[in-house]
Amino acid sequence: MLIVQKYGGTSVGSIERIKNVARKVAKTRDQGHDIVVVVSAMSGETDRLISLAHEITTSPAEREMDLLVSSGERVTIALLAITLNSLGYPAKAFTGRQVGIVTDSIHTKARIERVGGERVREALRQGIIPVVAGFQGISEESDVTTLGRGGSDLSAVAVAAALKADMCDIYTDVDGVYTADPNVVVNARRLDRVSYEEMLEMASLGAKVLQNRAVEYAAKYGVKVRVLSTFVEGEGTLLTEEDEDMEKVVVSGVTHDRNQVKITIIGVPDRPGIAAKIFGTIADASIVVDMIIQNVSQESLTDISFTVPHADVNKTVEIMRGVTKDIGAKELEVKEDIAKVSIVGVGMRSHSGVAAKMFSTLAAEGINIMMISTSEIKISCVIDAKYTELAVRALHRAFELES
Ligand code: ASP
Ligand code: MG
Repeated sequence: MLIVQKYGGTSVGSIERIKNVARKVAKTRDQGHDIVVVVSAMSGETDRLISLAHEITTSPAEREMDLLVSSGERVTIALLAITLNSLGYPAKAFTGRQVGIVTDSIHTKARIERVGGERVREALRQGIIPVVAGFQGISEESDVTTLGRGGSDLSAVAVAAALKADMCDIYTDVDGVYTADPNVVVNARRLDRVSYEEMLEMASLGAKVLQNRAVEYAAKYGVKVRVLSTFVEGEGTLLTEEDEDMEKVVVSGVTHDRNQVKITIIGVPDRPGIAAKIFGTIADASIVVDMIIQNVSQESLTDISFTVPHADVNKTVEIMRGVTKDIGAKELEVKEDIAKVSIVGVGMRSHSGVAAKMFSTLAAEGINIMMISTSEIKISCVIDAKYTELAVRALHRAFELES
């Protein structure tokens, strides 16, 4: 088999741990498999580099930020390849450029356009273990780009797709995907299997096990992905196509996300083209808007609220100041201490009353709902951040997810 193994930041967080990863890679090799390893930066390193830049300015140039943060993964590929070689397992480290991971030029969240993979294939033919830097690519202009936080997952899936690997194993500090964050719900259960679509909702809803772009990519190319622990042996969670068994379960998981900020534009003139103007401007800045709510208008004025990721709040506010003025709106309000709790499950397609049950569960705990959004397989509520744990536990219980 050809297996892509990806190791996250905590798995390569020290020399001891890098040695542990090398031993795991060696073991898989001894079992007769071909392996490509993809690694993240050492845990905390990307944050450390970002904060160095922020000591200089609050808005560092994004092109240079990419060059800066991509250095974290250069360190770990080199160290891991050195370790493997010293153990007698020939290995070679490759940067994103050397692997031919070509992206667009949206710095700090570039999209992969194609993966050449020539040098990786060549190494495999020679019996050498390629160790690939996650998170990074190269734009058509030959500038270093990065794929968004957690982007090493995407690198691994994209490399697996390009090489038509049999499996893409994502090794992390948890042993699979759970029905809720085990730090919040003690009796959360590990899921053996989860559909791409459910995982996509969970990832984008803040279950930080896998980067959502990685899941999207895996679904698109049908890459078989397993989430496994680096530190304890186990079966992990397999991402697959949806099947009938999965639909019998109404809700597969409860997730929460504290990473959104709610922005409200107050006193917006209620006429055609205003929403297009607001969200068109945000989209042009490549900011991803999550929930949107427009209130009933009074005297031709309305309020529009939406959420954006925490990381984009400064940029959004800056843009919205201009827009607010242009459209003649009254005020801009930013609310940071919010959380989004969500329930996810493909079974929702065929069961009714799921939303009502969610709302009554929250109501029974005295939790107010500020925003609601739904898709075919998920329902999300924005609430006050201080009730996050309470809400997640109550929903986990109400939908009988405990082990
Ligand atoms: N080092 C990068 C980050 O922290 C990429 C990754 O770990 O997946 O976001
Ligand atoms: Mg990660």
